Amino acid sequence: MNKTGIVIHRFAQDGEAFRWPGVDVKHYNASGTQSQGMTKQIVFPADAHLPAEVRYFEAEPGGYSALERHQHVHAVLILRGHGSVMIDGAVHEINAFDTVYIPPGVWHQFSAAADSWLGFLCLVNCERDRPSRPTEADIEELRRNPAIRDVIRW
Ligand code: MN
Repeated sequence: MNKTGIVIHRFAQDGEAFRWPGVDVKHYNASGTQSQGMTKQIVFPADAHLPAEVRYFEAEPGGYSALERHQHVHAVLILRGHGSVMIDGAVHEINAFDTVYIPPGVWHQFSAAADSWLGFLCLVNCERDRPSRPTEADIEELRRNPAIRDVIRW
């Protein structure tokens, strides 16, 4: 940030990947993160004037976010590609420019289609609880729902 407080990051696609030089890229492929083929970029970090963060998540074809739940909410805008999101026991198709609101306390997981990247902006409060991941008992219960049993990954 310069002394005026103005920050501009120019968009620069890097091959298939959406990038904003100057914004760090976190890769989520590490084992134990329970997501696959996913990156995260904090395009608007929280600051004293705006206690919220906008993150850009991007999954390569077949990639997916962690299956999780938490009390904080997500306001999501799909920016590219298509795929699906599982929210609270139902699966919804998602396409570029759709919006998705994820309320408190529900299981959710975003997945890119097998033939498409999926990129989305996700707004969160900067003060938020940590996501919880499913226990074996949670998975057993989730998998009793035929609408999602073959969709969720953990
Ligand atoms: Mn979440």
